[in-house]
Amino acid sequence: STSVQIEHVTKRFGNTTAVNDVSLNIKSGEFMSLLGPSGCGKTTLLSMILGILDVTDGEISFNATRVDDIPMHKRDVGMVFQNYALFPHMSIRNNVGFGLDMRKVPKKEREKRVEDALSLVQLETLAERYPKQLSGGQQQRVALARALVVRPKVLLLDEPLSNLDAKLRKEMRIQLKRLHQDLGITTIYVTHDQEEALSLSTQVAVMSQGVVQQIGTPQEIFLHP
Ligand code: ADP
Ligand code: ADP
Repeated sequence: STSVQIEHVTKRFGNTTAVNDVSLNIKSGEFMSLLGPSGCGKTTLLSMILGILDVTDGEISFNATRVDDIPMHKRDVGMVFQNYALFPHMSIRNNVGFGLDMRKVPKKEREKRVEDALSLVQLETLAERYPKQLSGGQQQRVALARALVVRPKVLLLDEPLSNLDAKLRKEMRIQLKRLHQDLGITTIYVTHDQEEALSLSTQVAVMSQGVVQQIGTPQEIFLHP
């Protein structure tokens, strides 16, 4: 697995400082939540870790190697967005296989890995359907399978449960926790929901207005604040 170092990272958009001198050390296998209200800089920080947004200042490293020095295809980062972002014209099987097609994984191995990823999220029976034929919770599980199929070393989740109803949110929380326990992937989870952060994380970073105010285990943050 992979550790993630965020050192004195700042991101400015014109006059707005979205992320202000944030340092975080995320150990291998950790489930780290970035918890804070809308606009506090969570998505901006995640986008810089994913590598789709440049830092204004500071450094982000995986296993102590600066991400700038790691070629994109070797970064092994999986990402799940709030709105799933599935391809509507592709079957569930092909949505999940997309990242493997991009990496030119041979057909036989592709089939096996797609099957494995679908079974991790318990969607084997829906492989031939299309996204709009699935419920929101099922679509979110497809997005998760699509991120996991490339066997990422780091998994980034941006409010992945926020579009689900309360019952599904709870179910998915249990699934996410089980997956993390089984696979041990270093996970960074963006949420504004204290209960989610409390139930899922091994570490919580509480953010406000672009800065990390507090870091600790859920117990340290919520029981002895
Ligand atoms: P969160 O994910 O916690 O809701 P964001 O990271 O989306 O917060 O946003 C943090 C701040 O940066 C907000 O003030 C937001 O308006 C601003 N911001 C985010 N992205 C951009 C952008 N591309 N251009 C300008 N301002 C942005
Ligand atoms: P979030 O769900 O994290 O709060 P937002 O709805 O704030 O996300 O932002 C959605 C998208 O719009 C993001 O890609 C973000 O970078 C961009 N964005 C946010 N605020 C601004 C802004 N003030 N100017 C330009 N782009 C922005």
